[in-house]
Amino acid sequence: MSETAVAGNEYQAQIDEFMGTIKDRLVNQPEFLQAVEEVAESVIPIIENNPKYKKAKILERLTEPDKVFMFRVSWVDDKGEVQVNRGFRIQMCGAIGPYKGGLRFHPSVNLSILKFLAFEQVFKNALTTLPMGGGKGGANFDPKGKTDNEIMRFCQVFMSKLAPHIGPQTDIPAGDIGVGGREIGYLFGQYKRIRNEFTGVLTGKGIEYGGSLIRPEATGYGAVYFAQSMLETKGDDFKGKTVVVSGSGNVAQYTTEKVTELGGKVVTLSDSGGYIYDKDGIDTEKLAFVMDLKNNKRGRISEYADKFGCEYHEGKTPWEVPCDAAFPSATQNELNEDDAKTLISNGCFVISEGANMPCTSNAVKIFQEARALYGPGKAANAGGVAVSGLEMSQNAMMLSWTREEVDGKLQAIMKNIHESCVEHGREEDDYVNYVKGANIAGFLKVADAMIAQGVV
Ligand code: NDP
Repeated sequence: MSETAVAGNEYQAQIDEFMGTIKDRLVNQPEFLQAVEEVAESVIPIIENNPKYKKAKILERLTEPDKVFMFRVSWVDDKGEVQVNRGFRIQMCGAIGPYKGGLRFHPSVNLSILKFLAFEQVFKNALTTLPMGGGKGGANFDPKGKTDNEIMRFCQVFMSKLAPHIGPQTDIPAGDIGVGGREIGYLFGQYKRIRNEFTGVLTGKGIEYGGSLIRPEATGYGAVYFAQSMLETKGDDFKGKTVVVSGSGNVAQYTTEKVTELGGKVVTLSDSGGYIYDKDGIDTEKLAFVMDLKNNKRGRISEYADKFGCEYHEGKTPWEVPCDAAFPSATQNELNEDDAKTLISNGCFVISEGANMPCTSNAVKIFQEARALYGPGKAANAGGVAVSGLEMSQNAMMLSWTREEVDGKLQAIMKNIHESCVEHGREEDDYVNYVKGANIAGFLKVADAMIAQGVV
């Protein structure tokens, strides 16, 4: 029996007791509870054996945000009609640095989703070794089908409401689903107008006004570097591997680019409409088509199938396609227990999460029971925020590093995160439980900083 199973049994009563205390407070926050439970399972054994963490109520404090801001965003669309959305910023934990985490614009955005993302961000940011606390924000605004002018007006009102609560030493937002280079530009312009200052208050900025090279690539590249480190533990690499990727946005695009560069073959991409299966592989030329389609024309992935004459599976996710490695890179809970069973039975043995919490808890258990190399998002996709941290450093020093410098630092950070996971996650049979490793490594850093700073 694995160490996790032993620990899980031994400390289950304490885990249940802790979850019981927060469940009552958090009705209608299922995603947040899911993220907390996964961390609690890993860190409660540590807390039970370290009275200082228990006495300081570290986990209780970490599961209550420092601050939550909610605000109305009213704006006028191109037809002259008034639209009303809800904006949020969660400042989850600032123990090791200013709050840092993306903004998501998607109709599904609510408090539970943003709290889960902010909570994950606390541990992820700690793993990067950079001084960044955890935060997240966004709005239930759907950028799909909106004109550039509508996006700009929305971003301007959103930033007017958010600006009093953020700043380059306080809270530095970035992009996430629905917030890419265009949105960051409009948000930055409005912050500059309101505050009359040019500062690194956002990351993911355009290269012309303070952005970092490799920031757009960082999350996807980082997820592949992390998978590469996992493969290396088995003396293996990407050459000749068949890879399934979901999503077709920022993370999916650069995951595809790096896998291809390392000799693997990506055969799927998806969006909320369905997935394409290109058995010949999505090569550089085809990926350029996807980037133009998604980033400029804002089209649907089905158009790839029309253009290149491959299969399109409407309303489905790509997990039924046989592969060696899978990169869920779209959204939370996009891969369930049945999908995990299908992947494993089809021979998949590497799963690296580009998205945040894309696999359900039961799917994760299937991967771990099968002893697959499974890298959870808070470790595998930390490359994005890591390069955001490097963007902050460059802004503070008023200089820009080359692509090679930033990529070199990104690779070193991803290797370091992998090593931390191995150090804290190795089990009796030598299997590396990356979930446990990431949770414990992130927790210890934040917990010690919280204790040092007293009860605040
Ligand atoms: P994008 O907006 O660029 O792309 C999102 C992709 O996921 C699109 O293909 C979108 O399809 C699809 N998608 C979104 N929501 C759903 C849904 N409910 N069901 C099915 N498909 C969906 O976002 P990113 O690539 O930036 O982010 C993807 C994931 O990676 C998210 O989980 C994000 O939190 C995570 N992440 C991103 C980082 C970054 O640096 N950007 C950093 C770390 C993690 P459609 O267009 O049809 O909606």
